[in-house]
Amino acid sequence: MTYTSSNYNFWIRLGESDTSYLFNSLQGGLLRIPKKIKNIVEELTSNCFELNDMPVHIKNIAELLINGGFIIPEIINELDIIKKRFFSPPIPKTFYLTIVPTLNCNLRCRYCYQKHLDISMSQEVCKTIIKEIERRIKSQNIEELKVEWYGGEPLLKLGLIKHLSRNIMNLVKKYNISYEASLVSNGTLLNSKTVKILSKICIKKIQITLDGLPEIHNLNRPYMDGSPSFEDVIRGIKKASKKFIIHLRINVDRYSLKKAFEFLDNIEKYEIFKIKKNVRPYIAMIGPLTPNCLNTCKRAIDPKDWYFYVLKFQQELCKKFSDINPKEILEYPKILHKPCGAISEWSVCVHPSGKVFNCGLEVDNLQLSGGFIWEPYWEHPIYKKWTKYNIFENKKCVICRYLPICMGGCLKHTFNKEGFFKNNACKHWYNYLEPTIEEFIKIVE
Ligand code: SF4
Ligand code: SF4
Repeated sequence: MTYTSSNYNFWIRLGESDTSYLFNSLQGGLLRIPKKIKNIVEELTSNCFELNDMPVHIKNIAELLINGGFIIPEIINELDIIKKRFFSPPIPKTFYLTIVPTLNCNLRCRYCYQKHLDISMSQEVCKTIIKEIERRIKSQNIEELKVEWYGGEPLLKLGLIKHLSRNIMNLVKKYNISYEASLVSNGTLLNSKTVKILSKICIKKIQITLDGLPEIHNLNRPYMDGSPSFEDVIRGIKKASKKFIIHLRINVDRYSLKKAFEFLDNIEKYEIFKIKKNVRPYIAMIGPLTPNCLNTCKRAIDPKDWYFYVLKFQQELCKKFSDINPKEILEYPKILHKPCGAISEWSVCVHPSGKVFNCGLEVDNLQLSGGFIWEPYWEHPIYKKWTKYNIFENKKCVICRYLPICMGGCLKHTFNKEGFFKNNACKHWYNYLEPTIEEFIKIVE
């Protein structure tokens, strides 16, 4: 059999070190290549060869490269492997459901993209959600259900979340399906009572936003009456981190970026890291994600520089929390089937009115909805525009070596061709892959 090099190999060289590394974005393998065999590996990954014709010591190296997918049989079309991943159902078959019980919020964040209409989900919509889950279980043979509670501030409707969760839990029990839920919250309403309720309705993760130091957070994220929310969020994180994994989102722009690093330096002071492994901070970019937040444009960090800061923040975290697996801190490249749930027919987001959306960031614009949850929304042209999107018709992506770990990036940005974030996905891995792997190697070795 003739072998040839994978199209998805990346050579990583660490400064002046004698050792090189090979990363393969199709299979996710990372191989250490000592100097003494580097020439052989370079030769093997540059030319076609027959395995049987080789001296034993070279054959052993070739077999190692074949096992990691760095070298492949010439007859294999690697793009077919990516296509198969893209068009196949998730494993296990999972229905990803985002529920927005209300668009209302008790904060008035400076950069928020929502208009906070005082609209909440009715009992009728809740009942239809249950019917839709049951329809999916029967028609798609769902094996797992993952619910994300999103808002506004979803905890303003804790009673509704509790009631609907109970009905969902009864349903998944009836069909013997696994279930877990997560929550996106501003953290101000997390107290002992809410934490106790949430722990009984299968919540595993909570994303809480805390914009770093109090002076920045209180400026960015005040209550409706302008009063500060920092202390309440810290209290909420302390309570919730005893039970749940907390993804601590720190939103930054050009003016607050430095302060986010200062916050990290002083983080012990706030005692939210007592249960270190449960709290995972990361920075997120404040930017014009929708037409409602174009005002953030002037202060936004240029997307081409963004990943440099993300990596720097992660490096600081790795130094500070050396007992946490760096793979949990660094955004180590993952093999993807789809760029995100919005493009998948296994996923839907339900607005309080019952309107459905593909992307959760669009819930504030009813014109972007793909129909109602009680209609055959999967036949609606908007829903289909997303779920039938074929990444392989994009000439640039099809020949891209980052494709298996990018899958075309955020489709919202792709549809919005002229937006601030255009070509953001390309900038992401182009800038970020090698430095991330380098950092990972430095820490692990
Ligand atoms: S389309 Fe973009 S913004 Fe929407 S969910 Fe996917 S990655 Fe997020
Ligand atoms: S969006 Fe850019 S980086 Fe991602 S697969 Fe397409 S061409 Fe490659």
